[in-house]
Amino acid sequence: MDFEFTEEELAFREEVENFARSEMPREIEEKAYLWPGGYGTLPIFEKEFEEFCRNFFLKLGKKGWLSLGWPEKYGGVNSIVKQAIVDDVLSYHRAPCAHAATSIVAPTLMRFGSDEMNNIWMPGIINGTTSFWLGYSEPDVGSDLGSVKTTAVKDGSEYVVNGQKIWSSGAHVTDYCWLLAKTDDSSKHKGMSLFIVDNNTPGVTIKPITNIAGIDSFNEVFFDDVRVPEKNLVGEKNNGFYYVMSALEHERIVIGFGTFRRILDELTQYVKEKKKAVGNTREYEEARNIIALMAIEVEVLKSFFWRTVWMMDNGHKANIEASALKLFCSELGVSLSNSAVDILGLYGQIDKGTKWTQFGGRAGIGYLDSISGPIGAGASEIQRVLIATRGLGLPRG
Ligand SMILES: Cc1cc2nc3c(=O)[nH]c(=O)nc-3n(C[C@H](O)[C@H](O)[C@H](O)COP(=O)(O)OP(=O)(O)OC[C@H]3O[C@@H](n4cnc5c(N)ncnc54)[C@H](O)[C@@H]3O)c2cc1C
Repeated sequence: MDFEFTEEELAFREEVENFARSEMPREIEEKAYLWPGGYGTLPIFEKEFEEFCRNFFLKLGKKGWLSLGWPEKYGGVNSIVKQAIVDDVLSYHRAPCAHAATSIVAPTLMRFGSDEMNNIWMPGIINGTTSFWLGYSEPDVGSDLGSVKTTAVKDGSEYVVNGQKIWSSGAHVTDYCWLLAKTDDSSKHKGMSLFIVDNNTPGVTIKPITNIAGIDSFNEVFFDDVRVPEKNLVGEKNNGFYYVMSALEHERIVIGFGTFRRILDELTQYVKEKKKAVGNTREYEEARNIIALMAIEVEVLKSFFWRTVWMMDNGHKANIEASALKLFCSELGVSLSNSAVDILGLYGQIDKGTKWTQFGGRAGIGYLDSISGPIGAGASEIQRVLIATRGLGLPRG
């Protein structure tokens, strides 16, 4: 078995490393939290980093690094491995690398969108100018997306949208909504459609919500008689639920593997320094043993991540692996945050910017943020159901 990258992939990795070192400002790398497996500390969802992220995506687009995994027709080189290398290296530097436009919208458009629609939307996604947020969840609708209540009613050459979305990550810092709405009341899953809605359309109101880590990462969004051109309907009417399900596989593979490596490296360094400060004490030995366990967990994730990438790159179906990967890494994010707080002791509970702050206040923020991982993009319970039923063939019960 060969677990090595090719010479070309290694050279590419080096190129991405050099780019990250020169283009990612040190102060933003230090300031951004980006806890592994969490959703609430991604710099792309923070107003403070909006302008920087927009410019950074333009640079990635110019290099062709937003579309590497796609066919040439869409600016790519058909290499999911190279796309994953970009995700791994940039996320290590806490740099922006993937967002809804590249991980959800584009794969769906390429598969189900008309040529006309792709000609309109794909160029902006490929060059990094167009950004999206995902309008799926509603106040009473999360796991059971079939129960979406927001409606889109045909009126001449437009659809009129009414309803409310919630937990909409990044709606306040992006341009367009990837909206799931009800278009046929007589059917549940076969009565929903996907639309692209400009955030600036009259009747769209976006209100940020502050998350548990103190960051405005998500929003509630209201749609009051919002008129959407018919040409913004994605694929066929009433097929939206199936498009959303097929795209989740892509979202679940974007894990920011570099963030896991980074926390392990930083905590290892922290423990080395602790040894110098406290000597060969019980405190040091406990911290050292926690780091050993973390190293094993990150190594397991590494093998699993690259194997899943390899499967997708070689045309194998990997939807169960993508679910298992999402489950494993979001729960690993929780376990790493527990470990970080254990290693730091009471200092793990102190925010950034105080005289007692250690580890940049990351442990405490990570502890709070990591609970979002096993919920967002399909909760752990749902992943377990998928793995057990679709993967292992167990009855749904
Ligand atoms: C940080 C963060 C960012 C998010 N960003 C977005 C976003 O950008 N866009 C968006 O549309 N949504 C977003 N969400 C919402 C997310 O998709 C939902 O929270 C998620 O799908 C779960 O839905 P829910 O919260 O309504 O919980 P519910 O669906 O009400 O579930 C509650 C609990 O019951 C369990 N459960 C539900 N059904 C079953 C079942 N059939 N079998 C076993 N257990 C079950 C769940 O796993 C969960 O533990 C985000 C969530 C978070 C935490």
